Amino acid sequence: MLITVRIKVCPTGDQARSIIATMERFNTACDAISETAWLNRTFGKYTLQTILYRDIRSDFGLSAQMAVRAIAKVAESYLADRSVQHTFEPDGALVCDQRLLSFKGSDRVSILTLDGRIVAPIIVPDYRDIDRAKIKGQMDLVSVRSEFYLMVVVDVPEEPMIEPDEVIGVDMGIVNLAATSDGETFSGDRCTTVRKKFAAIKAKLQRAATWDAKKHLKRLSGRERRFKRDMNHIISKKIVGTAKDTARGIALEILNGIGARISVTKAQRLAIGKWAFFELGTFIRYKAQEAGIPIYFVDPAYTSQQCSVCGYTSTDNRKSQAEFLCVQCGHHENADSNAAKNIAGRADVNQPIALRPPSKRCGSWKGKPTTGVMGIMPTTFSRG
Ligand SMILES: [Zn+2]
Repeated sequence: MLITVRIKVCPTGDQARSIIATMERFNTACDAISETAWLNRTFGKYTLQTILYRDIRSDFGLSAQMAVRAIAKVAESYLADRSVQHTFEPDGALVCDQRLLSFKGSDRVSILTLDGRIVAPIIVPDYRDIDRAKIKGQMDLVSVRSEFYLMVVVDVPEEPMIEPDEVIGVDMGIVNLAATSDGETFSGDRCTTVRKKFAAIKAKLQRAATWDAKKHLKRLSGRERRFKRDMNHIISKKIVGTAKDTARGIALEILNGIGARISVTKAQRLAIGKWAFFELGTFIRYKAQEAGIPIYFVDPAYTSQQCSVCGYTSTDNRKSQAEFLCVQCGHHENADSNAAKNIAGRADVNQPIALRPPSKRCGSWKGKPTTGVMGIMPTTFSRG
């Protein structure tokens, strides 16, 4: 499975200026190459290289590898469409190979610029260990709102899918962002605290309404988003790790409409903010795919009111947001863990025959456990 990993590059002010100048020169060269290619109706990489290599190097002062990459960028762009002349934005991607950009240990990169080599720190998303041997082909250095990112395509091996006898159910909610049928809960407290902190600063900045305040606000929303992303990565990593260690599948509630399903008070709705349940579900899915863990999607209807022991379903079973007490059998448990068990139960191989898909006669049933929709995940993921 090929995935794109986005690595943040953190140059100093001077280094950033060198990178921008290099980017601009590189893309100006691309424009010139593109014009020649277009006028001569010559789009092949090697032909262009033969015609233009020397001129591009001398006219634009590009290094040998940079000239080659610029020609390749143009040739590749014409592969997709040869009906118009292509132009390139000055701050378009600087295409690098391992000679133009190399990793120094795990926390720095060396980049060849017009001003020579610079070494800048990088931030690799902590949820992903990059095996540099698995980096495929070229890397794109891009600038997004004055920040620099290196887009790297990595080949992540997919493990063969296991055929589990049991599943872990995952219930997603507000008090607990996630709760598993094993009784493990991931509290939303920290998110609520962080969200409140950000909300307070935001309100202050919004009142100030200066240009500086606006800039600060923008940065803040990025930080909040990253915090949530990191939380989702931590939770999904833990859940998939447990599934892998115990050779179990994972049961999730059908994701679309989760926001609509959760009935919450106004205060809770505020607390949830824009908490990305969908993102959490997506992270669980792709980590599971890498690990060879099947995902089973189940209909979550009444999972919060149903007793996971005797099956009795009633709103009376719900003593509070956190507490489940079955009025029929007396089963008492954390409400989210109880719901997670119901979710697991709906995907379980040992579920009642009545809940299984019709029969082998329909042809699609391959003997795998499923309830409702069974999804085995998209093919590739772009992590950006
Ligand atoms: Zn019960």
